[in-house]
This record gives sequence, structure tokens and C-alpha cells, in this order.
Amino acid sequence: MNRNSIRIAVVFAALFTAVSCEAADQRPKNLILMIADGCGYGHVAAADFYEAGRLGAQVYEKFPVRVAVSTYSLNTDGYDPSLAEADFGYVEMAGLLPRKPTDSAAAATALSTGVKTRNGHIGVDSLKQPLENIAERCEKLGKATGVVTTVPFPHATPAGFAVHAGDRGSMPEIAADMLCQSGLEVLMGCGHPLYDRGGLPLETPDFRLFGGQARWDSLTLGQCGADRDGDGVPDPWTFIDSLAQFRVYASGPAPDRLFGLPRVRETLQQGRGGRVSAPPDSVPFIDGVPSLAEMTSAALNVLDNDPDGFFLMIEGGAVDWASHGNQSGRMIEEMRDFNRAVDTVVEWVERNGGWEKTLVIVTSDHETGRPTSPSAESLWAATPASDKATLLDPVNRGRGNMPDLVWHTVRHTNALVPLYAKGSGSTLLAERAKQKDPVRGRFIDNTDVARVIFRLSPLP
Ligand SMILES: [Zn+2]
Repeated sequence: MNRNSIRIAVVFAALFTAVSCEAADQRPKNLILMIADGCGYGHVAAADFYEAGRLGAQVYEKFPVRVAVSTYSLNTDGYDPSLAEADFGYVEMAGLLPRKPTDSAAAATALSTGVKTRNGHIGVDSLKQPLENIAERCEKLGKATGVVTTVPFPHATPAGFAVHAGDRGSMPEIAADMLCQSGLEVLMGCGHPLYDRGGLPLETPDFRLFGGQARWDSLTLGQCGADRDGDGVPDPWTFIDSLAQFRVYASGPAPDRLFGLPRVRETLQQGRGGRVSAPPDSVPFIDGVPSLAEMTSAALNVLDNDPDGFFLMIEGGAVDWASHGNQSGRMIEEMRDFNRAVDTVVEWVERNGGWEKTLVIVTSDHETGRPTSPSAESLWAATPASDKATLLDPVNRGRGNMPDLVWHTVRHTNALVPLYAKGSGSTLLAERAKQKDPVRGRFIDNTDVARVIFRLSPLP
């Protein structure tokens, strides 16, 4: 080596050390990823207007890292910012099959493994080969892990952080893997075999999701569960389903593993009866099921017993379901339920070591329904790019009043979705936002979320 190349090598070594030390300094003890399924910018704005009469009302909208995220899967030919700005219908991809927007399975896989895959694939690549997910990485680091959702627990998003399956539709197999194979410490979601969509007891129980009554019985008797800590002895789940039990476990002593199954069939509240087009709060809610915030409190109370820290994924899954139905009032109810869960997480962080110990990421897996202002489509072409984000927002009618909005589809779209992050390591997400969208500004790809978390969670 001549003197110049030695000098270059020294500079590179110094740079490398600086970069890796920087990542090491920012390694969070706890990772909390919150996903409002189907939530685009218009959903956040609609809930803001209804809840507060103004934009920016949510605690996460003030997080220091705010970027957009591309969500396309291997069934989509990418995301083109200039086409999206030029053509109002571009993100809807209507009539362009097989060029489809992502589904929740491919999106969850991208967010949990950092790898794009095909729609329907859960934790596996396009050839159905298993991919390491961030929960598995955290388990290798000795951390506790959990997934919580407002829809059935083996649904695509929670499954994407727990198991590997070539077909999202094989829910009984996915449920069995989550319950009997995974190393999760917390599993919470709907799918109760004894209750209907309105939370009333079924005349005939439906055990299909559990692969029959035998597994259900072993679960409720505390006899089902994999060896989560590798000592060769099975670690059965503590099973809860009543609202009182969820509240008991929100503080105080907690079991090693908690499986919480609210007493309802499909969703906490979105699937209840009554007029689905009614404004928020006008149809009585189901008593006897927890809110997502209450489930979150119980999940945190179990997971924070691990001295190595934890990973928790929390999904507002029924934002997507309400949006498929173009149910404006119920979409806002579901967004509000998700927003209160974020508040619960933020309060927990601030009471438990602060933002130097924990990374919180709030995002979405894709947009569903595309709620916008009624004039967005007609004024799109004549509006400069700098004003188009505002044009897309629903129209504010003040706190407690339904904002004015129209839905453009009952399907998913390829639109960019928002991401907000705060805490240890969050700046790495901002650094990845190198692409620029004329309407939404800097954006990352959904695979960047897992890539950053893997970088912050290296194996020894
Ligand atoms: Zn959906």
C-alpha cells in the first residue's frame, strides 16, 4: 500500500466505525410498530377533523420523523411519482389487472422482513421460501415479542409478523402455527368461536379457526403452547377473553405468555349491526370487548417484564374493513380506536425510560378506499403539485361533524401512505427517504422499515 491508499483506508475505517457506532448508540431496547391497516393520508385527516376540527391533532403527527412510504408488491409494477401526480386515477389501477396494488399479506411481509413478495404470501418470498422476520430476530436477541390486532388474530398483518405461509387464506393452519409453533409472548385478536359479530353467544360454536374443539379445549385449559424459551419444556398460554380480564392484566403481575381473544367473532366494533352508513357513535357499541388501547396496555404489561426488551406489533385492522365498505363513520371510529392506542403507547414510553430506550413507528400497510375531498378528481389537473396534498384531504366540517369526503374505490390503492417515528434509531428512517414525490415529499419504501429495524437489531 502506498501512503495515499493507506490514508484512504484510514479514512474509510474511521467512517465505517463512525457509522456503526452511530447505529449502535441508537439501538432501542424496545420496538413498537403500529399499523393502521388500509390507512392513507385522507384517513388520518378525516379522523383529525372529526376528533379535533383541525389537522395535526394526533400525538404521532408531531413525531420528529414524518415521511411517506411506497407500498407496492411484486404484483404491482412499482410506484411512479410523476405518473401519480399527472394522472388522478394512477394509484387506483382500475382495469389494469394483473397490475394490482399490494394486499395486506405482501405488505406485512415487506414491513416485517424487508423483502417484497407476491400478494397472498405471508413471511415467504415469491418462491414461498421462508424469510426471517423482525419478531424472530428479536427473539434471537432474547427479547419478548407480541402481536395485537382488532381483526381475527391469524389475519394477514399479525400473521406476517409471526409465521410463514404461502397462502393467507389457510387461516386454521396459520392460527395453529401462531398458537403452537411461534415464540410469541403476546397474541391478541378476534376470532372467538363462541360469539357472533355483534358479541352475542352463538347457538352453535364454530371451532374451524382453531382446527376443531380439541385444540380450543386445550388452549382454554392452559395446556397449549410451544417451547418459547428453548428449555425443552412447553410454555402454555394463559388464556383470557373477558373485558374484566383484559383490564386486570393492564397493570400488576402478568403471566409469561398471554393469549387474549375478545368475545366477538371478527372485529372489536366495526362488524357490529346497525346502519353502517351512520355517523360515528350513533350505533351502540358492543359491551364486553376491550378497546385496542386496553389490549395494548395488557400487551405492554406482559412484554415489559423481559429485561432484554421487546418487539410489539399493534394493528388497527378494521380501518381497512370499514374502508372496503366505504363506511365513513365506522372508518373514523376505527381510526379513533387506533389513535387512542397510539396515545397509550406514547404514555407508556414516557413512563418507562423515555425515547432513548424505545422506537415507536406509526404507519400503514396500504391505502384502502381512497377517501378525498369531493372536488379532488375534478380539480386535480388544474391544481399545482404543491397544493395537491391539501386537495386530497377530506373537507373539514368542524369537531364532531362528519368531514365531507368521497370514496373512489372499494379496493386497495397504490398511493403512498404516511409514516411517523420517534425514539431511538428513528433518524435512520429519515435518512432512507431519498426518493421524492411531488405531492407527498420524501418517501421510503415499506421494505426500509424492516431494514432499519434489522440494522438496529444485529446478531452478536
Ligand atoms: Zn384490505
